[in-house]
Amino acid sequence: MTEVQTASGPIDSKALGRVLVHEHIFCMDMEFTLNYRPDFVKDEMIAEAAKRLDAVKHAGVDTIMDLTVLGLGRNVPLIAEVASRTAVNIIVATGCYTFDEVPKSVALVGPGRMFNRPDPLADMFVHDIEVGVHRTSVKAGVLKCAIDQPGLKPGVERVLRAVGQANVRTGAPITVHTSAHHGTGLVAQRVLKEEGVDLRDVIIGHCGDSTNIDYLMQLADEGSILAMDRFGMNVMLPLKDRVATVAEMVKRGYGDRLTLSHDCFCWSDFFPTEEDRARMFPEHSYCYVPQIVVPALLEAGVSQSHIDIMQIDNPRRHFEDAARRVASRARGEVPAVPA
Ligand SMILES: [Zn+2]
Repeated sequence: MTEVQTASGPIDSKALGRVLVHEHIFCMDMEFTLNYRPDFVKDEMIAEAAKRLDAVKHAGVDTIMDLTVLGLGRNVPLIAEVASRTAVNIIVATGCYTFDEVPKSVALVGPGRMFNRPDPLADMFVHDIEVGVHRTSVKAGVLKCAIDQPGLKPGVERVLRAVGQANVRTGAPITVHTSAHHGTGLVAQRVLKEEGVDLRDVIIGHCGDSTNIDYLMQLADEGSILAMDRFGMNVMLPLKDRVATVAEMVKRGYGDRLTLSHDCFCWSDFFPTEEDRARMFPEHSYCYVPQIVVPALLEAGVSQSHIDIMQIDNPRRHFEDAARRVASRARGEVPAVPA
């Protein structure tokens, strides 16, 4: 048995069921929301989030990974309240989301900086995983970092390396936000590997924005899992292209390296108003994969068993294998290197 941490406490990996591996509940700049978004009413938002998660449970999904970390408005006490009102398991992440600099609160701390001491980032992430998130009884279950179009900026590299170190210390698996169009998944793999990460512990996020099969195969051949995780963001890439890419990868034997998700949220102040969001992404909801994408994949020739592998087996193995590997490292056994 492998224990997986959720916002409602630990569960057995076998209880994960069908998983959406890359979602959010609340994405916000809290300072901005506090000052300029009177439409965010905490109790109403908690109720709304629980309602939307109940709907996805009704559609057959059992677990979501909420990858809202530092830089995206992480608020774990709020997530714990949502979790207490829905049957969906919510896995909370730790890490940092930045395309350039680290947050100001840690920018001056670290080797050679104004407060010259070891970089605190990895210890912060490990604390969230092993001890728990402050002001809650919730432990983080996964790690998250990002590398987008600007590439390996100093702050991005600092976070990637800290996330890699936290993975090696704890065995918590990693998701990386990447820009498929700029090939940054490959850069993330290189940096994480340099930190000793087994790339099989890594989900490369936002691969589903790409139809470049060669790029996707290159990432998967390193052992990582690819997140086809922006279903419903059809303005960025239409559904038919996203479905055709998954079908082609399955045909080429990569069904055991794919997962499906939306990168959806209940509230995000990335959009000026809810109406703007609905206009930009009218199909974007937690239920789009079970209700629209799965039938489209079946229609495209992907078997139900491959859909089950992508939704159930791959996320479960992601946790089980990472836990097994960290245990084997702790016993001093030489970890198996992916071919
Ligand atoms: Zn995301």
